[in-house]
Amino acid sequence: RSKNTGRDCVTVFDAQMGIEIAARECLDRALRTAINQREFTLHYQPRLDLKSGKIIGAEGLVRWDRPGRGLVYPAEFIEVCEENGLIDEIGAQVFEMGCAQAIAWHKQGVDLELSLNVSPRQFADNGFIEALAALAAQHDFPKGKIELELTENALIGDPKKLAKKLRQITTMGYKIAIDDFGTGYSNLSYITQFPLTCIKIDRSFIQQLPSSGPIVQLILTLGRQIGATVVSEGVETVDHLDWLSERDCDEVQGFLITKPLPLPEFEAFAAGFSVDALA
Ligand code: C2E
Ligand code: MG
Ligand code: MG
Ligand code: MG
Repeated sequence: RSKNTGRDCVTVFDAQMGIEIAARECLDRALRTAINQREFTLHYQPRLDLKSGKIIGAEGLVRWDRPGRGLVYPAEFIEVCEENGLIDEIGAQVFEMGCAQAIAWHKQGVDLELSLNVSPRQFADNGFIEALAALAAQHDFPKGKIELELTENALIGDPKKLAKKLRQITTMGYKIAIDDFGTGYSNLSYITQFPLTCIKIDRSFIQQLPSSGPIVQLILTLGRQIGATVVSEGVETVDHLDWLSERDCDEVQGFLITKPLPLPEFEAFAAGFSVDALA
């Protein structure tokens, strides 16, 4: 009997692995179809400028409108796509959609900036710069209105090469933000070597306010020193907002203002927004 148990265990383990592999293959196939059928869409989370009290832009966040299943959030597929390489194509579609929207706002005389997330693998891909150049060459490209959000993990490597690549991108008219600042593992010296226009404080620090206050204050000071805009992510309460306003944080994003919204809802929200309604 004891001999058999060992074999049964192996069998169960194999079966479970088989199920996982099959599920993963199924997801990979569905994602491949999603790319071909263009099943991805963007939701927009407003960026509130604290000085003016106005919505000055949005972060575009990808969602997968999976037929028969509804909206699928990035946590369920971005990492998988980093592994299987599909992120390059999804990222390209996100960028096309985002740029088209930024151009549309520009043409309509709507003054909004748009930030788009770029994964480390997508940033490292040579085709990415070419795609950015092609988009920037379009008629009506809104210079200074589209921002790339990179995580610190995208900035690991030869600093000279990275600085050159980033300068190429900023010269085309894009801005560069560091996303989830304070959670990566890169050497901080990149901060003064790269042309950064924005630092986004990771929401884990905002959610631990006021105990994380010294860290948030440090990032605000750092941002000011290098002339970058500082955005606080994950602002959920009026206490968070007050703490940040008192210390001259430039912009905030978070559920207190609103969760990410589909385009029509976002446009209506931005047009009707009043900061007084928050307090
Ligand atoms: P992120 O870039 O840091 O985006 C912020 C995430 O925090 C979003 O989740 C947003 O919905 C959520 N969030 C915003 N305000 C609050 C708040 O007050 N409280 C809390 N708890 N959460 C808040 P989402 O949309 O699920 O995106 C998750 C991550 O997926 C993003 O983190 C980003 O790293 C990645 N991602 C999203 N879109 C893209 C994309 O187009 N390309 C790539 N490569 N990654 C993307
Ligand atoms: Mg982001
Ligand atoms: Mg972030
Ligand atoms: Mg974050």
